[in-house]
Amino acid sequence: MASETEYLGFGNLPNQVHRNYVKKGFEFTLMVVGESGLGKSTLINCIFNTGLKTGRQIPSVNEHLESTLKIETNTADIEERGVKLKLTVVDTPGFGDSLDSVDDCKPIIDYIDDQYEKYLNDESGLNRRQIADSRIHCCFYFISPVNYGLKPLDVMTMKTLHNKVNIVPIIAKSDSLTKEEVQALKKRIVTELKTHGIQIYSIPDCDPDEDQDYKEQVRQLKAAIPFAVSSSLETHEVKGRKVRGRAYGWGIV
Ligand code: GDP
Repeated sequence: MASETEYLGFGNLPNQVHRNYVKKGFEFTLMVVGESGLGKSTLINCIFNTGLKTGRQIPSVNEHLESTLKIETNTADIEERGVKLKLTVVDTPGFGDSLDSVDDCKPIIDYIDDQYEKYLNDESGLNRRQIADSRIHCCFYFISPVNYGLKPLDVMTMKTLHNKVNIVPIIAKSDSLTKEEVQALKKRIVTELKTHGIQIYSIPDCDPDEDQDYKEQVRQLKAAIPFAVSSSLETHEVKGRKVRGRAYGWGIV
């Protein structure tokens, strides 16, 4: 009798589709938007454990005077437990750096639209098997921990982007806030997003027949939005274990 994986029928379709995808690998394009110095490069390198992004040059005073926004892409092939991922990080250096940042959204939107158009053209063409998907699948929007909520630039940018990409708002450098401050800032951001009608990525509801642990995990994730992050590229030894962390005079976060 054929084993479960050899069985050729629609019952085995999920395995076959899964195998094909795992063999081919996945493409994922992540855009990061936020002011310089909020820890975007550090977080990306931390999450994907790569040296994908390097910290950027601090702009000079002259550069601050005019808009210097650029779109930069970096790609890395990552493999975890046999699953391949072609990760592209689209960075927007210079965002919010100039004195007048109102035009900073334009190149970002143009880039997103160009990728949709490119994909549509490729899909309408003859060579549909080899399409490289450069559409932006997700956008991490970094919010400064030192402001009391969203800045006008944050509101304007997210309002421009929310119909085009999945926005995941992130409170940067949350280790600079106390637990209460983090909760207060999250509450305020959620209220402001609602007030301005900004739609952010919402984690899908789970099926009613999912197990309790998974349901609880999803509930906690939903309640945690906007995510507050703290990241570091250094590793420290804590209780015999190597952990990523930030070493301060009073301890390690
Ligand atoms: P980017 O310009 O947004 O890409 O910022 P970088 O990742 O280059 O980080 C700017 C500075 O902030 C560096 O000195 C980092 O070590 C520091 N940094 C990055 N992440 C954190 C964090 O979570 N908390 C704190 N306190 N500092 C951070």
